[in-house]
Amino acid sequence: MTSPSIAFISQLPIDEQKSWQKQLSKLLPNESIVLAGQLTDEQKQQCSIAIVADPDPQEVMQFTHLFWCHSLWAGVDSLVSAFNPEAGANGMANKTSNTDGLKFNISRLIDPKLAQTMSEAVLTWTLYLHREMHIYQQQQNKAIWQQLDYRLAGDRTIGILGLGELGKTSALRLKENGFNVLGWSRNKKQIKGVSCLSGVLGLTKLAQQSDIIVCLLPLTADTQHLINKEFLQELPTKACIINFARGGIINNDDLLYFLKNEQLSHAVLDVFEHEPLALASEFWHHPQVTVLPHVSAPTDRYTAAAIVAENIKKFRQTGELPPCVDLASGY
Ligand code: NAP
Repeated sequence: MTSPSIAFISQLPIDEQKSWQKQLSKLLPNESIVLAGQLTDEQKQQCSIAIVADPDPQEVMQFTHLFWCHSLWAGVDSLVSAFNPEAGANGMANKTSNTDGLKFNISRLIDPKLAQTMSEAVLTWTLYLHREMHIYQQQQNKAIWQQLDYRLAGDRTIGILGLGELGKTSALRLKENGFNVLGWSRNKKQIKGVSCLSGVLGLTKLAQQSDIIVCLLPLTADTQHLINKEFLQELPTKACIINFARGGIINNDDLLYFLKNEQLSHAVLDVFEHEPLALASEFWHHPQVTVLPHVSAPTDRYTAAAIVAENIKKFRQTGELPPCVDLASGY
């Protein structure tokens, strides 16, 4: 085999890896894209570019001469924590700490189609909670026929944590559907029709006013367990939470406590600290929790491959990289 120009590193089932390889090779006919598992140690040392899809950071570490790693996923928290433990979330950093001297650029998927898919999921589950479907489900389980008072969407405030690619599109979609929308980010934003907040005081203000919280933050050292007792106690009674970002952003013990004392009405959880969710998890059978198997915004193979291919072609022509993750802030 000649030296590969690009390694494909992934923990996906081999058939899926081959489908990605085929799609990417079609779009990048001048590159030789080879699955990492098929490379010798020597070939791994020669790779300067890798395309990754949920890679095992330990496997990425075998590529000691990487210059650029492009993720097909929007979240790159496990890679960031492996290569910069201080910026990543603690739990994952501990798993992979032998990263001395390994430094390369990480770019993640920024795909408008992914943002649309996420905003659709956010709207779906916001409407579910807004129209009290979680309560009607519980009533049905107990054969209770009881009509609840109707509230207008405009009387419901949704607080979005994270106003990046996914959070901003979701905020606008909720606004279009008549909700009152607040958003929170590290740097204060201006989004038409959305009240944008930042900082610790901004977070408290958002919590105090939000009937439904939607989490779309990246998992970093700063956001790990950000949704904890201090945050939850600021929410109005019977508030709900939707977490479509990463499980590690919520302190599960605190969440369960607030669900139990009914200060929180319901949680829709698509992401968990350990996936798949363990059979023994209390969440599976909890009447106030909806468990989803990490499906709120799946990567679209066609748009994602096209975006990554364009970024690689541009780099080959101009030497320019797309926006890369800031390892210091962790996202
Ligand atoms: P992004 O564009 O990087 O946006 C992140 C947002 O979070 C930004 O607004 C950022 O603020 C804010 N933020 C980060 N750290 C913060 C902090 N310490 N305090 C306050 N705000 C902070 O990311 P994205 O593309 O929207 O994706 C968000 C996350 O969604 C990903 O990291 C991934 O984990 C998750 N995701 C989940 C799925 C799924 O299927 N469940 C699919 C795709 C992605 P600034 O704007 O000020 O920088």
